Amino acid sequence: MARIDLDNVRHAYGPDPKSDADFALRRVSHVFEDGGAYALLGPSGCGKTSMLNIISGLVAPTEGRVLFNGEDVTLLSTEKRNIAQVFQFPVVYDSMTVRENLAFPLRNRRMKTDEIARRVDEVLETVGLTALAGRKARGLTADEKQKISLGRGLVRPDVNAVLFDEPLTVVDPQMKWQLRASLRDVHRRSRATMIYVTHDQTEALTFADKVVVMYAGEIVQVGTPAELFERPSHTFVGYFIGSPGMNVVPVAIDGAGVRIGESRVALPAAPVVVDGARIELGVRPEFVKLGAAGIPASVIRVEDAGRYRVAHLSMQGHPIAAMLREGEKIPADPKVSFDPVGVHLYADSWRVALNGAGQ
Ligand code: ATP
Repeated sequence: MARIDLDNVRHAYGPDPKSDADFALRRVSHVFEDGGAYALLGPSGCGKTSMLNIISGLVAPTEGRVLFNGEDVTLLSTEKRNIAQVFQFPVVYDSMTVRENLAFPLRNRRMKTDEIARRVDEVLETVGLTALAGRKARGLTADEKQKISLGRGLVRPDVNAVLFDEPLTVVDPQMKWQLRASLRDVHRRSRATMIYVTHDQTEALTFADKVVVMYAGEIVQVGTPAELFERPSHTFVGYFIGSPGMNVVPVAIDGAGVRIGESRVALPAAPVVVDGARIELGVRPEFVKLGAAGIPASVIRVEDAGRYRVAHLSMQGHPIAAMLREGEKIPADPKVSFDPVGVHLYADSWRVALNGAGQ
């Protein structure tokens, strides 16, 4: 397996790119550590598939280098990179049995029969297909077929990484949960470097140790699910991750605090920002409290999501969402306050450290 480095990679599909806007990938430098489970998460069009295709060799970047274990592979074909790929639609031979599907790539390499049997048995076990080994692929469910695709990738002895491009798209909602859990398990057992592209935060957060969040052709944050939730580096991360996403409110700096309309919110220290920057306060609905003291607000509606309720309010002309605790009653004349541990400040969309210790 490999450590994969993207070194100042840029990519434009059109000829003669000039401004940043001409690049589908603006500038990406990132290291995927050997054996890591990564998700590339972002909305449609942010460049996830372009990045995956640059890693696999389907697309050659306009600028920059791709390194596998320190070796420059930028100009190598997909085949030479020894990458296994699992796409949206499973690639399997319907007329073959599950076992034959897994043995196929090894037969092509003229591996010895007993070695093929040993490896195939091992991978059948890893991906949970032992019981179906003798069944024809035709007639199996979409998630079983995806397991075959995955198994065919893992069975090769020299695979550098397994890349997944939205692999659960055609899988039934009920089976998604199960397949996702088994992918984690497969990763634990195989210790392969895995990179999983998705626009679905649940898929990303449940699969990956590290989530790479992309927005408009750039990586905006790389972190564990907890880091992305607790300290979003960019307002987009706050908004995109979480349900509902982080509240982002325009504010003005006022010493060691900020002003929201007529009201003031204290901060731990006076923030240091560039003059003229657009300043916003970010606070997740989980850290918004409704009580007798704070910023006056009016309730617009209360959303019942089954396991929790969310109050949507207007605060000094700005929308704000508050997560309600079980059985919590909204006061008649609610005032909004924030739990200080959940308060973040952003300058031109990027998070500003508030205590000088880079917190
Ligand atoms: P999606 O989830 O919709 O696939 P994505 O995050 O994977 O989105 P990409 O498919 O990498 O994003 O696309 C990034 C940008 O590059 C988009 O603006 C897209 O229109 C453009 N793009 C992608 N492939 C091509 C192509 N072959 N030719 C021209 N432009 C392309």
